[in-house]
Amino acid sequence: MPADTLPPIYDALLAAFGHRHWWPAETAFETMIGAILTQNVSWTNAARAIRNLEDAGMLDPHLLAGAGADEIARRIVPSRFYNQKAERVREFSRVYVAEFAADPAVMAAVETGTLRERLLAVRGLGKETVDSILLYACGKPVFVVDAYTRRIFSRYGLLPPDASYDRMQRLFMENLPPDAALFNDYHAQVVFLGNTVCKKSPLCDRCPIRAVNGQVRCAGALAHFFL
Ligand code: SF4
Repeated sequence: MPADTLPPIYDALLAAFGHRHWWPAETAFETMIGAILTQNVSWTNAARAIRNLEDAGMLDPHLLAGAGADEIARRIVPSRFYNQKAERVREFSRVYVAEFAADPAVMAAVETGTLRERLLAVRGLGKETVDSILLYACGKPVFVVDAYTRRIFSRYGLLPPDASYDRMQRLFMENLPPDAALFNDYHAQVVFLGNTVCKKSPLCDRCPIRAVNGQVRCAGALAHFFL
């Protein structure tokens, strides 16, 4: 049962890895831009692009809203797809300035569903990006899921291997209390596990969630050991 399994999985991850302290940003706006820049690239690449913007004195919503796309693109080359992402960063910054006064508190005061719909309407912002902004920049209890979530929890037997974003998100939101702090760290733990242990070739013998509750066991681990 997911409701019985998801909390102990989190407890085991927390015990093994410690609190992950995501999102690694100094301001809410930096988190928002990071969520856009990390689309389809590693966080390391996105972080380099953010540092470039910061070094150029451009990590500011008003400056990015008024900048030329080519000017932004030059700074964010490490994030790949930099021309597309420059447009997205500029468009998002324009909306953030015009509709939310460039103030994360103003944005966070908007009802979650309404805010999610508005951000999804910004060209190039998908569900994972928007939900990352809602959770990590606005403190909304919205669970963020990604390819690591699909890999780990399908191996675990809690999701089909081709689960959609919405299906994955429902698994967590319907079986955990709506707690932004829990959602924040749970997603970060999943990313860390996917990066370091439950990789394409899983390292099940060192996995902290191979078994939880003394009886629930990862179906993927069993398959791996008996191959
Ligand atoms: S036990 Fe293996 S397959 Fe299961 S989550 Fe851990 S690493 Fe992944």
